[in-house]
Amino acid sequence: VSEVMDILPPLTPELVELGFMMADEYLCHTITALQSMVPSVLKGKYQKIVRYLGEKEEPDTLRDLVSQPFLDYLKKIGECTWEEALNFGVSASSLRQLSGNGLIGLEERVGDRVTRQKATFVKPASAGQLQEAIDKLSGRAKRQKEVLQFFQANPGEIALPHLLAKLQVSRSTVQSLVDKGSLIVEEREELRDPYRDRDFQKTEPLTLTPEQKKAIAPILASVRHRKAEAILLQGVTGSGKTEIYLQAIAEVLKQGQETIVLVPEISLTPQMVHRFKGRFGEQVAVLHSKLSSGERYDEWRKIRHGEVKVAIGARSAIFAPFRKIGLIIIDEEHESSYKQEENPKYHARQIAWWRAQKHQATLVLGSATPSLETWMHAQKGYYQHIELKERVHGRPFPEMKVVDMRKELLAGNRSMFSESLREELTRCIDRGEQAVLFLNRRGFSTFVMCRECGETLTCPHCDISLTYHQTNRTVRCHYCGYAERVPEVCPSCGSKHIRHFGVGTQRIESELSRHFPGIRVIRMDVDTTGRKGAHERLLGSFGAGRADVLLGTQMIAKGLDFPKVTLVGVIAADTMLHLPDFRSAERTFQLLTQVSGRAGRHEKPGKVVIQTYNAEHYSISLAASRQTSAFYQQETRLRKLHDYPPFSGMFSVLVSHPDRVKVMRSGQVIALRIKRNLPPDCQMLGPVPAQIPRIKDRYRLQILIKYSLDSKSVQTVKDSLREIVYLTDDPDLKISLDRDGMEP
Ligand code: ADP
Ligand code: ZN
Ligand code: ZN
Repeated sequence: VSEVMDILPPLTPELVELGFMMADEYLCHTITALQSMVPSVLKGKYQKIVRYLGEKEEPDTLRDLVSQPFLDYLKKIGECTWEEALNFGVSASSLRQLSGNGLIGLEERVGDRVTRQKATFVKPASAGQLQEAIDKLSGRAKRQKEVLQFFQANPGEIALPHLLAKLQVSRSTVQSLVDKGSLIVEEREELRDPYRDRDFQKTEPLTLTPEQKKAIAPILASVRHRKAEAILLQGVTGSGKTEIYLQAIAEVLKQGQETIVLVPEISLTPQMVHRFKGRFGEQVAVLHSKLSSGERYDEWRKIRHGEVKVAIGARSAIFAPFRKIGLIIIDEEHESSYKQEENPKYHARQIAWWRAQKHQATLVLGSATPSLETWMHAQKGYYQHIELKERVHGRPFPEMKVVDMRKELLAGNRSMFSESLREELTRCIDRGEQAVLFLNRRGFSTFVMCRECGETLTCPHCDISLTYHQTNRTVRCHYCGYAERVPEVCPSCGSKHIRHFGVGTQRIESELSRHFPGIRVIRMDVDTTGRKGAHERLLGSFGAGRADVLLGTQMIAKGLDFPKVTLVGVIAADTMLHLPDFRSAERTFQLLTQVSGRAGRHEKPGKVVIQTYNAEHYSISLAASRQTSAFYQQETRLRKLHDYPPFSGMFSVLVSHPDRVKVMRSGQVIALRIKRNLPPDCQMLGPVPAQIPRIKDRYRLQILIKYSLDSKSVQTVKDSLREIVYLTDDPDLKISLDRDGMEP
């Protein structure tokens, strides 16, 4: 960390807040690296550190005051936290006395609450004499014999707790071997490994299909030539992109270089971890949001010190502190999760390209449905464009069927399941196969409304309706976490006719059990996946055939590969189309293509049923007929027509304040300032209330600035925005800036 810090101006909260202003400058990159990789560094907690002052002799006073194990530990690691020292039985007064004598250093430091983990390691005193030691044991020392035999079979050392767990022996058994001089123990730091107790089956490279061979050639060539280059690998779902990544990484390893692999949200795709760990074992570090900060810290250091060669993780893994990057892979490169919405804002794709340039590395963007920006870059020749049009071994594409729900309604079917989906589901389950049912959560939630007066329950801190959760009959705010029990009567008119509306996964689940008595459903949504490891457990259970249906939100759309899944149902394909987002058609197309890729990936052919109220919408019909190029062309035409990104640039400035009057005033002032310096080829809109006018008790206004792409004025606009942020002296006022995105 200190190495990175050295090249930075002093870090201040203001600078961090300003990180977004520099979304395309090196500074943001570094701040984010610090923030995301060692999360506590910037959180500003002071911590007491005990440091070993190595140059001093070890005088007796030191030994008198602290125990030998602690001393050994401190010498090995160099420093530890105050708490760790106390855990060793060292008293606070001893520490102070030693520090007064200049024997150890005590210091206070910001952040770094992450502690290093110590462990006792055990190994044979002499590997060559294990058999002798065994022969010397008395016949009754069975357990001791087992321990020594373990070391015969597994040369090297092992952490004591793992040894005890593995062999089910007691600590005293090991201790007697230490006393006899057959084993030696050593106390030192252990790097945590979240996957230590998991066995990954070793896999060998597959023989590539002719199409895969053709696709991997330019990637290998680029890796060998070592020049910064971006390649779009556009391959239909199931075309074997992952195998191409794996074999390209093998080449990078051969070249003595390192690889970063980004996946949308790795804790959601345990199968990806299996495939990478299975091929490259201990050379792989995994970074994701569900790691403890200690585990994250240790993974970070393994990467930093070159102990691993491949880092796989979500967005922030792009900051993996490798020194010799040869390849960066962004899988599902179109995913919106690659953009960080909080400060400092950044897009992982952008940062990947900076790093690729700095390291002379190859950047591979993989997707069945690339973002429109990437697709256009490839069309223009900025990126190499490699296509995989076939599924591996010619497995057929699933049959796609679009069901018009308006017709269902006219025919008197008011259920969330069309006739067609019900039939297919019956057939699927009767054959003993599995189905995935998908409900898009965005723009779709269950709210509570009074049928007498029309009042909906809204969050007291945000201008948004509360979402109903059946499990404990509560309503919750998905923006600030507020929760309350569902009231018995309407808080506004006192009527008892207060009930929930809309469709959530829970309601679909109950409807499923009504239509199909005895059906086994696994539901994956925010409610069922909150706990650590929950995703993996649920998916594992589905994979093992303990359920007929996997029902979930978009978290199940990605990367899943289950041989027995032959049916995919999309409950409502059009929920996203109504969002005020110029990317909604693109998102709909991508999502439908992704989910349909979950069906029939193995021997059995698959079927996809898409239910929608907008059957004619091009994003739905072209996804159903798999006309990818046609979709991109149509979408390009429309974006151009309406002058949306990537045909224009767009800044959005969000001004927020806890005081409604003050936010209006500040919004006006800021708009005036922007206008004063606005170049003639830019256009300003607003201020207007943001899409959600209040979140966490802060009122929000939005100002949009559109600029033409070839405009040299962007820098002027950026400079003037930066100045405005510097000039504001109201500590409660927050200004944040976003470029080219209209995510809510
Ligand atoms: P994608 O990432 O493009 O969706 P995958 O890499 O997941 O595709 O491949 C789909 C399936 O085909 C996987 O089960 C994978 O193991 C298998 N597969 C990929 N390449 C080959 C190959 N060359 N030979 C045999 N099976 C393959
Ligand atoms: Zn709220
Ligand atoms: Zn009411």
